[in-house]
Amino acid sequence: MTIKELDQAFIAGTYGRQDVAFISGKGAELYDEAGKRYIDLGGGIAVNAFGIADDVWADAVKAQVDKLQHVSNYYYTQPQSELAKVLCERTGMKKVFFSNSGAEANECAIKAARKYASDKYGPVARPNIITLWNSFHGRTLTTLSATGQESFHKDFGPFTPGFVHVAANDIDDMKLALEADDVAAVMMELIQGEGGVNVLDPEYVREVAALCEKQDVLLLIDEVQTGNGRTGELYCYMHYGIKPDIVSTAKGLAGGLPMGATLFGEKTMFTLTAGSHGSTFGGNPVCAAGARSVISRLTDELMQEVQEKGAYIKETLGASKGVVSVSGVGLMLGIETVRPAKDILLGCLDRGVIVLTAKNKIRLLPPLNIPTQLLKEAIAILKEEIEQ
Ligand SMILES: *Cc1c(COP(=O)(O)O)cnc(C)c1O
Repeated sequence: MTIKELDQAFIAGTYGRQDVAFISGKGAELYDEAGKRYIDLGGGIAVNAFGIADDVWADAVKAQVDKLQHVSNYYYTQPQSELAKVLCERTGMKKVFFSNSGAEANECAIKAARKYASDKYGPVARPNIITLWNSFHGRTLTTLSATGQESFHKDFGPFTPGFVHVAANDIDDMKLALEADDVAAVMMELIQGEGGVNVLDPEYVREVAALCEKQDVLLLIDEVQTGNGRTGELYCYMHYGIKPDIVSTAKGLAGGLPMGATLFGEKTMFTLTAGSHGSTFGGNPVCAAGARSVISRLTDELMQEVQEKGAYIKETLGASKGVVSVSGVGLMLGIETVRPAKDILLGCLDRGVIVLTAKNKIRLLPPLNIPTQLLKEAIAILKEEIEQ
């Protein structure tokens, strides 16, 4: 049987896969079964920060595999401790909890917010968490509850209660929800990724942050997709000049290995205590070694490059016939097109360029270090497909 036949026979049909099986790659290039080359503008959905089989990352991971792959969280391990230190030093956050995915990083943030409110105001006074319509926070039942998209909410009820959704960029809606005085936290993505690469208005975000501060409502920023250099800052909140109480991240953190992290600020650094939360695989030494390598390479110089490449894409496509709008920051971009995004995706795939979609838009999340030459080649093809 072919790879595709095996998959269709034995894998639960949760994914609408494209008709291609990838075998290998290097950097921003991938190869399929027939040896056809593709330029990767999807980055495995913002996961492969330095592309496929990057040498520096692979060496860091291989060295750790040969030394110690796992011992459980009953013990201290070097990659996990060192990674936590670097994350705290570079963000000003105080403590880190490691998990294996974005949904788990958000679960941890939600649990911590609930416990903070319970510790301080009693177990019933502040049960609610406000999130935004059109958000995406994960696929577990609780993070689905948090997710403000009705399409995800059918068939799986009952859901975890205590989530209130408000309209993004609508400060009056947020004020109204906060007036209820029963709110533990506000949780949001600063750029809604799955929701269509919608950038939150800086003024709105700063106003929400101020309201939260005033009412001792925690501000949880979901940086699962926007984090780890994606937008040309280490974390996207740094563009906004705010100080979140909790930051969750995952996707690009370990450069292609499963890892989530929940970062706690001063208010929440002691909220989770021994036995109150845990994860068997969380902070796994191999994943942590991959992440330590990734974070150490997210330099100011690379962040500058990410911003420049993002600006190049925006300029090139912004002026194209058939483009309605280009949104996003750094190398997290959404392109609204006249031609249906799904057709453009298929046209690009056929011509050896991988792009993603989000809602009705083309979404680009290439490796942060994609060579300029490859980027130009791929964008030229994308432009032709958009203009068709
Ligand atoms: C992808 C994503 C998640 C879920 O991450 P998983 O690793 O798939 O659990 C949560 N929040 C945001 C903003 C995401 O983009």
